[in-house]
Amino acid sequence: MAGPESRPHVLVIGGGIGGFTTALACARRGMSVHVLERAPEIKEIGAGLQLGPNAGRLLGELGVLDSVLRTAVLPERFVILDAYTGREIYQARFGQALAERFGAPYTVMHRADLLDTLLQGSLATGLVTAFTGKEVVGVEQDARGATVTCADGSTHSADVVIGADGLRSAVRREVLDDSEPAVSRYAIYRGPGPRPEGVEDAVTLYAGDGLHLMQYPIQGGELLNRVASFRSDRGAPGSDTWATPEELFEKFADTCDPVREALHHLDLGKRWEQFDRKPMPGWAHGRVALLGDAAHPMRQYLAQGAGQAMEDAVALAAALADSPDDPVTALKEYEGIRFPRAAAVQRNTRFFGEMVHLGGVGAVLRDFAFSSLTADDYSLAEWLYGTGGAPAPQPPARLDFYTEGR
Ligand SMILES: Cc1cc2nc3c(=O)[nH]c(=O)nc-3n(C[C@H](O)[C@H](O)[C@H](O)COP(=O)(O)OP(=O)(O)OC[C@H]3O[C@@H](n4cnc5c(N)ncnc54)[C@H](O)[C@@H]3O)c2cc1C
Repeated sequence: MAGPESRPHVLVIGGGIGGFTTALACARRGMSVHVLERAPEIKEIGAGLQLGPNAGRLLGELGVLDSVLRTAVLPERFVILDAYTGREIYQARFGQALAERFGAPYTVMHRADLLDTLLQGSLATGLVTAFTGKEVVGVEQDARGATVTCADGSTHSADVVIGADGLRSAVRREVLDDSEPAVSRYAIYRGPGPRPEGVEDAVTLYAGDGLHLMQYPIQGGELLNRVASFRSDRGAPGSDTWATPEELFEKFADTCDPVREALHHLDLGKRWEQFDRKPMPGWAHGRVALLGDAAHPMRQYLAQGAGQAMEDAVALAAALADSPDDPVTALKEYEGIRFPRAAAVQRNTRFFGEMVHLGGVGAVLRDFAFSSLTADDYSLAEWLYGTGGAPAPQPPARLDFYTEGR
């Protein structure tokens, strides 16, 4: 590793999974990194997180996979069930077979455990400093560097500024002239709780007409993470009438016993809205660039938002290390590598969500197609988890999943 004096100094805005993976990846390449986080402490909200082998490989490269595996669960399979009958529609073998095929396991974990590992890994390099209570409100740049201003009036300068500040990124507003994030009509209720007897080490998806329930064990298998989602047309997303707990129980009334039982473990006091954005290039702007949800927020259906942020972080660190004296070019190269990939994941995530929520004849045809796949046929996942550059599926152009109200 070259000394920090010959590497760009990096200022990362946002201390989430994307921000600290960036800090770790840059520090491991000898760069000094300063992280500014708005919140009073470095903390993840929500509960469970799935990481595909594409992210697992990167955690290995960054030297923190073993630490993650101390509390993560390695599910044996991914299974899709009919939400109404409980009938199994499809299973993919995860476990050892998937890990061997793609060079890293599929893991599920508590978000807080992952963030803590990334934070500790970053600090252990001796090249990362992190400050909380620093809300960035402005970014400026010139030929020599970039400077951010925080709400408390402090300013911080570096060779490059990376906006890893999430969905409503303040840095994005300085870089891209675009609209508000798109809100979904699908609401989310989450609920990690004690794992009932007999629940297998699996990622389980119950698919229904305009709804789903996803569950998987976390924290060494002691807790079960549950996520229920359904489409509500009662009022505007976020309003008092939209997606109330009463509607949740109504929508799931015909589902099978295990699904209805799971609803009682959800935190009904917190309803989550779901946002994303249509893929939009222009993340790199001189010495400032976007990363993670700030660049490409996506729906959760392929469980890839954090994984894509990690892919960004590693690609960004490599680009900066390759062109230490020309960060502007490095940031352009980073976007050139990452934009097509992240955009494909965003589009396919929307497509997969539509497929999961089919009803009627569409659902019958979907189930027929899925039931003809074998459990160890990973060809459909090659583009997402593999290293061979398999082309991403192209959802039909005439289906614009970014129209209002989906
Ligand atoms: C229900 C649900 C389930 C999901 N499941 C998965 C999954 O299984 N697998 C997966 O890979 N992804 C999943 N995702 C997506 C994943 O959570 C996100 O893509 C990921 O957390 C994005 O990380 P980030 O660091 O880019 O942004 P964030 O996690 O949003 O972090 C941004 C950070 O920036 C800080 N910040 C914001 N503004 C400022 C400012 N002005 N100044 C300073 N700091 C600021 C914030 O406080 C925050 O700490 C899921 C998402 C949802 C909603």
